[in-house]
Amino acid sequence: MRYTVLTLFPEITDAFFATSIMARAIERGIVEYSAVNIRDFALDRHRTCDDAPYGGGPGMLMLPEPLGRALESVGVRRRMPGEELSLRRKRAIYLTPSGRPLTQTLARELSGLDELVLLCGRYEGIDQRVVDMYIDDEVSVGDYVLSSGEVAALALIDATYRLVERVITPESLDEESFSGGLLEYPQYTRPEIYDTVKVPEVLLSGHHGNIRRWRLEKRVERTLRQRPDLIPAGMESGLFDGETREIVNRLLPLSGTEHKENEDERD
Ligand code: SAM
Repeated sequence: MRYTVLTLFPEITDAFFATSIMARAIERGIVEYSAVNIRDFALDRHRTCDDAPYGGGPGMLMLPEPLGRALESVGVRRRMPGEELSLRRKRAIYLTPSGRPLTQTLARELSGLDELVLLCGRYEGIDQRVVDMYIDDEVSVGDYVLSSGEVAALALIDATYRLVERVITPESLDEESFSGGLLEYPQYTRPEIYDTVKVPEVLLSGHHGNIRRWRLEKRVERTLRQRPDLIPAGMESGLFDGETREIVNRLLPLSGTEHKENEDERD
């Protein structure tokens, strides 16, 4: 996977690529990264990248010319009318609150591509013509407004690169939140007793079958309590297997607001 980030502040994204698992993925040649400073494509003496919006209104917008030149410098072509975008292995993405929400499903889809070119906005955003001419996909990291696209691009990069083959072991991803349509189960490490609270007995039993069943029950319980919106999707899409459906059907009637005791206290 290759990440190409177009930004006015490359130092923000550079730091992430030099750290921890990502640094190792780069060293092993699984991930490649380059940052392009959009300001390098502003041709005037002051290297201007923004101007006031037509029609008035507060703030400034990023100018189309430096953005277009920066995108073309990394091989993003102007779109042809009727071009089938889904066939491209390289995708130009603009991070914007107006985009489609970044979910684990979208992260998985993007992680299978060869290259993501990520355009980070600043100020009040970018000239719409750049989106219309060059951008394949618009992605939002949530229903809130950040001051710039770099943090959003890093969220997208972080959510996708760890799903790229060989970056981390597949087992680590199996029971994570959102895999199989459920949140993760609660986890515990040493000490066995922390400030009088003991680790659930079943986890100390060494009985793999019971541990697996307990964890699945906890995933369902937690999802019902904290993200009930995920349950219908899991039930209707066939994402939940028979055992999960049985647990959901049993716990669903108990999952009202009265059932909000601490899950750890019940063991
Ligand atoms: N005027 C824009 C609006 O109301 O949608 C917000 C502009 S925001 C201050 C500046 C830049 O931050 C945007 O161009 C975008 O790149 C980035 N940004 C802000 N919030 C974001 C979000 N939720 N998801 C993705 N990118 C975001």
